[in-house]
Amino acid sequence: MMANETDREKAFEAAIRAVRAACAVTSRVQEDFADDHRVLKADQSPVTTADYAAQVVICSVLAEAFPDLPMISEESADELAALEDDTLRDLVLEYAQTAIPGLTGDQVYAFLDHDDGIGASRSWILDPVDGTKGFIRGDQYAIALALYEEGQIEMGILGCPRYATGARSEGLIIAARRGAGTVCMNVDEDRPRAVKVQDTTTAAASIVARSVESAHSSFGITDQLKSELNIVATDVYMDGQGKYGAVAVGDATMYLRIPRPGATRKENIWDHAAGVIVVEEAGGRVTDILGETIAFSHGAKLERNTGILATNGAIHDEVLSELKRLYAAASE
Ligand code: AMP
Ligand code: MG
Repeated sequence: MMANETDREKAFEAAIRAVRAACAVTSRVQEDFADDHRVLKADQSPVTTADYAAQVVICSVLAEAFPDLPMISEESADELAALEDDTLRDLVLEYAQTAIPGLTGDQVYAFLDHDDGIGASRSWILDPVDGTKGFIRGDQYAIALALYEEGQIEMGILGCPRYATGARSEGLIIAARRGAGTVCMNVDEDRPRAVKVQDTTTAAASIVARSVESAHSSFGITDQLKSELNIVATDVYMDGQGKYGAVAVGDATMYLRIPRPGATRKENIWDHAAGVIVVEEAGGRVTDILGETIAFSHGAKLERNTGILATNGAIHDEVLSELKRLYAAASE
């Protein structure tokens, strides 16, 4: 555990500051470049100036406040170093410097080379741009930072500079500390207000948040489930962990992430660590689609879990029993 409560408060404050600084940088990149300057990583997923620059900015702010706390983060220095063309490397430095003046190229590599947190009892967990495909499309994405301590997530911060649902459209930071609730603030202002999940008690009256990318979650089972539960409201389609944020602030009632039947891919911890606590502390509930607790202590992947069901809590059991039935039937 962290030494004391003062340390945790300091960590929460530094984490919000880091995410806010990164939001400014990714917003600038998104305005300036749209889909330019991206490359494909070895696994064929895209990465951009924004992913790297956001990671560098966040690691730099956190390293100053907590130099010894390890970091588990999505991007690594190897992929950037392997590029033959210097363009992306130069842009990462240039954009990171807009938040951290005086930053050097060596520091960029040092902050991207932070892969020392797996297996540690305490570490930051970061996805610098979650929903990169949305970012490239000019749509939503989230900067997701969490603190893991002794088997559980202690705090989570979601920076959502392009947050938009049917209910509202404004840049938000949504942040939670274990036992202290979830707060939401404008991305440019440090004025947190407490938020709560919706109080809807029947699934039929709920709003579903879901992925834009059909490869990431089964559209077929999602639509079947909605039909079985008589859900008629328009869905919230969103890239990145803003979907958890939408449940936490009450703009959606549930977030569904349903593996396509037969898929064996396991989820990355950085795609869920911040989101899960943000929903739980707003009064909601998160399990996988089989009803299991989300377990963050099995390395970089959620090895023990299958998909995600995040709800306002009140409708969880009703949705879960139908979802389990449909998933089992589709997997036969
Ligand atoms: P989304 O919530 O749809 O924006 O999901 C974004 C995340 O999906 C990325 O951070 C990726 O790690 C993850 N992802 C990439 N490919 C897949 C896949 N085939 N199935 C599920 N998730 C994926
Ligand atoms: Mg991600």
